[in-house]
Amino acid sequence: MDSIKTKCLIIGSGPAGYTAALYTSRANISPLLYEGHQPGGQLTITTEVENFPGYPEGTTGTELMEDIRKQAIRFGAQVREGIITEVDFSQRPFKAVTDGGITIAAESVIISTGASAKFLGLADEQKYMGLGVSACATCDGFFYRKKRVAVVGGGDTACEEALYLSNLASEVFLIVRKDYLRASKVMQQRVLDKPNIKVLFNTNTAGLYGEDYLEGAHLIENIGTPKEQHFDLPIDGFFLAIGHKPNTDIFSKYIELDENGYIKTIGQSTATNVEGVFAAGDVADPHYRQAITAAGSGCKAALDVERYLAGNA
Ligand code: NDP
Repeated sequence: MDSIKTKCLIIGSGPAGYTAALYTSRANISPLLYEGHQPGGQLTITTEVENFPGYPEGTTGTELMEDIRKQAIRFGAQVREGIITEVDFSQRPFKAVTDGGITIAAESVIISTGASAKFLGLADEQKYMGLGVSACATCDGFFYRKKRVAVVGGGDTACEEALYLSNLASEVFLIVRKDYLRASKVMQQRVLDKPNIKVLFNTNTAGLYGEDYLEGAHLIENIGTPKEQHFDLPIDGFFLAIGHKPNTDIFSKYIELDENGYIKTIGQSTATNVEGVFAAGDVADPHYRQAITAAGSGCKAALDVERYLAGNA
């Protein structure tokens, strides 16, 4: 079995991982980055990115990730395709194993595996992905100016997305499967006070339709009751906001997570409960979840690694 030694293993790509690779490589740490299931991360499933500073004309998520990746490689980062399937943080150097059977011995680790938006599981969601279906209102909302959109979910994320979209779209429908919103009271009130948001309680999505692009959703009200009613809602955009799942399964044995599975970091730093293991990006951030904040925390993690390695040299 092949084995590799590195001063810093970065697990996961996306803005946090690539930025961490850029900063650690410029600090002569020669990081080794494994890109994971979705090289470039969640941004590669969005269309255009117009809110990342430095791109006055906007760019695509894929191009943005490719740019930061190239920048990191230019300074010596080793970026590899592949998935880390197993870690052992109980021994030093830390141990990780890839899906190709390579064993890595790492003096420090940056976890930047991100979070994945949850989907309803309808085949139509994949069919219209990028053609009307999105899991990120801040990324894609701008394309629905003066159009009709729907947001699915009843938590804080759904309310936040609905409010954000209500300033762009002409009409926003919030599709909630129960007869109440789970979101905090203040968010609920803001949604209910907004004249162009209509909350559809007790409503489930059965499917989506449209010729080339999304044109509407097949909905069911009061499913499984005598009042069950099927109807179609014409919309141009369908936003999923039913939660995110941080990609932390393989770390949970060693790393402290919060009640939603996000990595807990210490204070303002990116340090985890295991000294020498750091976390950056959405995997440790249930709140902001922006490319720029993820990139910022990737930078912080790299600086934390640099200090950690200097202190342990
Ligand atoms: P939540 O888990 O809080 O809410 C998910 C929502 O999606 C619920 O209304 C749930 O319905 C619904 N849902 C789940 N699965 C389905 C499904 N298959 N079909 C239809 N609806 C479904 O996730 P959030 O992302 O909203 O929030 C996660 C955490 O982050 C929370 O603790 C939240 O408070 C926090 N947060 C805080 C923010 C802030 O403070 N500004 C902003 C955003 C998030 P049901 O209620 O029926 O289960």
